[in-house]
Parts: sequence; C-alpha cells; structure tokens
Amino acid sequence: MTDQPIRHVPADLPDRIRHYIGGKLVDSADGGMFDVLDPVSNEVYVRAAAGQAADVDRAVAAARTAFTDGPWPRMAPRERSRVLHRIADLVESRDARLAELESFDSGLPITQALGQARRAAENFRFFADLVVAQTDDAFKVPGRQLNYVNRKPIGVAGLITPWNTPFMLESWKLGPALATGNTVVLKPAEFTPLSASLWAGIFEEAGLPEGVFNLVNGLGEEAGDALVKHPDVPLISFTGESRTGETIFANAAPYLKGLSMELGGKSPAVVFADADLDAAIDATIFGVFSLNGERCTAGSRILVERAVYDEFVERYAAQARRVVVGDPHDPATEVGALVHPEHYAKVMSYVEIGKGEGRLVAGGGRPEGFPTGNYVAPTVFADVPPSARIFQEEIFGPVVAITPFDTDEEALALANGVRYGLAAYVWTNDLRRAHTFSQSVEAGMVWLNSNNVRDLRTPFGGVKASGLGHEGGYRSIDFYTHQQAVHVTLGAAHHPTFGKGA
Ligand code: NAD
Repeated sequence: MTDQPIRHVPADLPDRIRHYIGGKLVDSADGGMFDVLDPVSNEVYVRAAAGQAADVDRAVAAARTAFTDGPWPRMAPRERSRVLHRIADLVESRDARLAELESFDSGLPITQALGQARRAAENFRFFADLVVAQTDDAFKVPGRQLNYVNRKPIGVAGLITPWNTPFMLESWKLGPALATGNTVVLKPAEFTPLSASLWAGIFEEAGLPEGVFNLVNGLGEEAGDALVKHPDVPLISFTGESRTGETIFANAAPYLKGLSMELGGKSPAVVFADADLDAAIDATIFGVFSLNGERCTAGSRILVERAVYDEFVERYAAQARRVVVGDPHDPATEVGALVHPEHYAKVMSYVEIGKGEGRLVAGGGRPEGFPTGNYVAPTVFADVPPSARIFQEEIFGPVVAITPFDTDEEALALANGVRYGLAAYVWTNDLRRAHTFSQSVEAGMVWLNSNNVRDLRTPFGGVKASGLGHEGGYRSIDFYTHQQAVHVTLGAAHHPTFGKGA
C-alpha cells in the first residue's frame, strides 16, 4: 500500500448534467437538481437534473412520437445496424475518455473501466450483427396453411440501470432495444450519471434519429418510479437490487408491462479437492475483488472441499492481502474506491458483522494509507457458517466468505442454500462431477473451471431472487419485440359451416 495518492480530476468536466429529451439537453421542468460525489474525495463535483414525473412525461412523449411517426422502427435492419456500428466505432474511439470519466465517477480501477468501455462498444456491434442475421419462423401445413412470425418493435422501452459498470450496463439494454426498432427512455443510476451524459453526443454523431434516445436523470423513487408507472411505456428492462425489483414488479402490475429483471446475487464458487488449485485461487480472487466487488456475478461465497481447505484458505488470504488497493486512476490499482459513502457504510457494516460470524484472515476495514475516500481492504472471512448474514446477504463489495464442505451433496446444499441464483463457478477436473453439479445448482449461469467470461450469444439472467427472464443473444431480441403469428389459408378456406341447417 502506498500513501494516499493525489486525486485525479478529469479535464473538461461538465458544469452540470442535464436530461436529453427529443434531441435537446434540458433541465428539469421544476429546475430541481441533485448532488453527485466522486468516491475518492466524497465531494460534490457536479449537480445533475433531478427528473420528476413531468420530465418523464416529456421524454416518453418524445420517444412515442419518434416511434409512431419517425423512421427508426420502419428502417431495414441493415440501416439500423449501420447506425449501431457507428455508435460502436465512436465508443471505441473514445474509450480512454470514457474510462477516465467512469473511473472518476464510480471509483472503478481505470484499467477495468477501459475494459468495460470496450465491452459497451461490443454490445452495440453484437446486436447490430444479430438483427441483420435474424431469421423468423415460417411453418407450412401442406395444402392448407402457411404461418409465419411477424416480428415488430414494441414501442417505448423504459431502461433503468444501476451504478456498477454503468455505461456498459446501459449499452447492454440500449443495444438490443434500439437494434430492434424501439425508442427508449433511459434512467441511469443517480450515483453515477457522468458517463451516461456522453450517450447523447455519440448517438447524434452516429445519426440516430431525433427522439429515439431520451435520457432522464434523477432518483429512483422519483424519475424511475414515474417511468415504471407511465402508461405509454409498455416495457421495462431493469437491472438493480432484488428489493427494488420487487417494488417495480408491483408498480408495473396494473399496467401489465413486459418486465426483464436482472437482480442481485450471492454466487458460489465451488472448489473440489481435485481442482487445479492455482487456477482456482487466481480466478476466485479475481471473481470477487474485480470491479471493487461491486459485481452482480461476484463469486462472493467460496465453498472448498475439506481435503484442500486449510491450504486454500492460507494461500487465498495471502494473495488477497497482496491485491493492490489504490487510486482508481492509477493503472496499477486492482481495487479502487467504492461508489458512494452510503454504499461504503453498508459494506463496512457487513465487515463488522462478519467479524462476529467468521474467522477474519485478510483485510477487515479501511486499508492502511487511505484515511479518506471509500476504500475497503480486500476482506476474507473463513469458516463462515451457512446461517451467517455474510453468507446469505449480498454485500456488493470486496468481501468474501469461505466455507468448507465434505461431500458433493453438502456442496450442492450450501450452494443452493440462499435466496439468490445468479451465477455459479465450479472447479474440478472430474467431468462427470462438473456436469452433474451444474445440472443441479440453482443458478442462471454456470462457469466450469472458468471465471465469468461472457459469450454474448448465451442467455444472461438469474433464477430465484436474482431475476426474471433472460436477455442475451436472441433472447434480448425476443424481449424487445412482439412476435405476431400470421396465418394464411392456402387453397379453399377450411372451416366447418355453421348456421346452414334447415
Ligand atoms: P438499485 O436497485 O438501488 O438501483 C438500480 C436503479 O433503479 C437505479 O437507477 C435507481 O435509481 C432505480 N430505482 C430505485 N428505486 C426505484 C423505484 N422505486 N422505481 C424505479 N426505479 C428505481 O441498485 P443499485 O444499488 O444501483 O445496483 C446494485 C444492484 O444491482 C446489486 O444488487 C447488483 O447485484 C444488481 N445488479 C444486477 C445485475 C444482473 O445482471 N443481475 C447486474 C448489475 C447489478
């Protein structure tokens, strides 16, 4: 650990962050603003427009007009695809600036923020390609019927996103929503509005028609809530906490909206004694400490077979202590500052709870040399019982719980013994065990002998309290489109004749 570094402040920060509605940057109708802090100094560096129902109304109206009267939903997939590729090119060409702003605003290490910026570009490229390659089903009943699927964009999609990797997660929704011809209103997270303010310029330069993309900043309970309850928004794609998901689910119910929910996690990484221990330790360190541990798919519970448990814990703790905490802007930094003092307080409270629930073997508080800023030392608790709160609850920071097991059955029961079911990571060289375990583990996604390496074609989503529905590949296309079935009679109409009786 070094002395507290000097805070890096990007040049040319905006003097305020505004909404973007119908192709124009605008303030809130009532002039309301909220403070935005940077996580290293926890000082207010900018104020952002605090959207209310009136602002959401304006944004939805602009998106609705662009949908009913504008060219975007009617363009050929290839034309939309070209715009999306230009968006990807622009994001790539600005990756360094994007990473600098994202890292400053969210506290993510700069190297990891750069990776996320590139992934954002890839999300656009992927869906640009997918809509061009998209085929739909046609079914023939010989001599009688030809039936086909008429896929149509749905309308105004409401996109509500969290503060962890904000720009990338926004792209994950914007890419497929736009590729399929919808128009959108994005409500980004209030902790991190900075990178989202770049979308408007990128979309204008790429040639996205006016009104197709709209952005309303603001608090979840105000701007987010108004979007969820807006009658002209038939779709809500939400990523955030499970409890917020429950609220949105209830609020959307009277409108019978299409919902896609990517929620919290408490994912297990299961290490069997026959695993490649070096690889498992490296991967499980990265799996919970990358992105500051503010990662929905973090492997935040490590279950280790008893035969290698002591060795694993000792080596894991030693390596965790060597993880470099530092200024988010420093390329050598592996764990930066947590996003906001409120979140920092929450993570620190779990660190204290953990001290009464498990055996602290690394970290356990603020790292040395960082008297200010939202810094948490990578923290490892061993011997954590499954009843512990740090085993059951999502902490969303650089804190991990390690628990021993004796049998495959016990490992499975521990893995499944939480309310969440997002990801699972399994480390074993036994093929049959790996697949048998994967089939039974309650997780939307499983990685065998691997970290979280995404293939954008595969489904992404969780089970239990981790989510509702899946996005990823054509599943995103399905969520953002109606699939109308059209039935065509071949030859003579064939139906029984009623009402011809004597
Ligand atoms: P959050 O639920 O507090 O907020 C997410 C978004 O919802 C924000 O934009 C917020 O303003 C908005 N919001 C809050 N209350 C609302 C309401 N009543 N109506 C409408 N919108 C509302 O989540 P967060 O703290 O920003 O993000 C962290 C959480 O997100 C973690 O639980 C994490 O696991 C989860 N997450 C899940 C995935 C996934 O794909 N499963 C990915 C990333 C993050």
